[in-house]
Amino acid sequence: MENLEKIEQELKKIKEEVLNCRKCLLYKERLKDKFYPVIGEGNHRARIMFVGEAPGLNEAKTGRPFCGAAGKILDELLESTGIKREDIYITNVLKDRPPENRDPQPEEIKDCSPYLERQIEAIKPKIICPLGRYSTEFLMEKFGLGDQLEGISKIHGKSFKINNFFYNFTIIPFYHPAVASYNPNMKGILKEDFKFLKALLEKISEEEKRRRKEWELEKREIDDPFY
Ligand code: URA
Repeated sequence: MENLEKIEQELKKIKEEVLNCRKCLLYKERLKDKFYPVIGEGNHRARIMFVGEAPGLNEAKTGRPFCGAAGKILDELLESTGIKREDIYITNVLKDRPPENRDPQPEEIKDCSPYLERQIEAIKPKIICPLGRYSTEFLMEKFGLGDQLEGISKIHGKSFKINNFFYNFTIIPFYHPAVASYNPNMKGILKEDFKFLKALLEKISEEEKRRRKEWELEKREIDDPFY
């Protein structure tokens, strides 16, 4: 397991860099409105990372991800599956709020996404859940799954395993929780997808427990050949 101090050092470094970032013009909006960048929040050893699109107004006012209307829905979905917010990590593709909540621009994603990539590398989640179209597209393309990309209505709730020399995690795309505030029927679909997430998390935990037991047994045999 990665050393927590090392993870925290890297996350602190990312935070300082975002605070001073001038790569795209969104920082000007932030300064003008006396907003905060929303860097990310949660467990630094989270197994699950949620990735939204960009901060909304409440988020930019507080510096906290998903603390407004969409956040309330996210909290409800987490609660329905018994996953605690303090056990997960939540961030966004863009760390600054686009004015009037407009869609993220490709250049902004290009400039801002290296921070997300470094957050993924530091925290090493086992499951990454993009929330909505932009984060799904970004993550699927970034991790070599561009050929399996479909619209969010087709791809939500499916799992995509990334297992290579550098990464070992599963991507599960979700609808953005905000859709449930425009269309209450969507909450049922989101709840089903969250059940799937919970089941996958349990499977991963069981697998980890099994491997740890095997490893302990092997170690005991090496330490004590008469064991
Ligand atoms: N929507 C997002 O995509 N991210 C937030 O942090 C809040 C709302």
